[in-house]
Amino acid sequence: MVRLSTVAIERQPVGSEETFSITLADWPAARGPLRAAGTLSRLEAGLAVTVRADWQAEGRCDRCLGEVAVPVSGEATASTVWADPGETHLQVSDQEIDLTPLLEEIEVLSWPSKVLCSESCLGLCPSCGQNLNQGRCRCRPEVAPGPFAGLRDLLGKDD
Ligand SMILES: [Zn+2]
Ligand SMILES: [Zn+2]
Repeated sequence: MVRLSTVAIERQPVGSEETFSITLADWPAARGPLRAAGTLSRLEAGLAVTVRADWQAEGRCDRCLGEVAVPVSGEATASTVWADPGETHLQVSDQEIDLTPLLEEIEVLSWPSKVLCSESCLGLCPSCGQNLNQGRCRCRPEVAPGPFAGLRDLLGKDD
């Protein structure tokens, strides 16, 4: 839980804003501390929060499964008022808001569709699992039998 106190802003008149900044030492899979900053605003019927954050997340290369730092950066907004159903909704409990859903949203939205340790990553050998960036394995080059290889054998044909 990433706690943000609403004690001060709830005493302010509608339209007031308060800025905050937080540092999280234990965000899951973050390399180093996560720093976030934002604004808490008092609405007529609740509170709105905007958070900006950037950090280095621990990712895995899609080809070789090696560890890769993935830069995460973005902004997310939510409120404690039910608005449209697609919007993130926050609850105030014990005069605190949990910022976790907003930080998760930033992480998901800025996560690259492909994570690679390098554009030229050779990946793992599909037979023995050797990391081909660290050297070749002894497997023969891949000879993939086509789906009809067995059928060809049955028919005794050779092409
Ligand atoms: Zn890789
Ligand atoms: Zn191999």
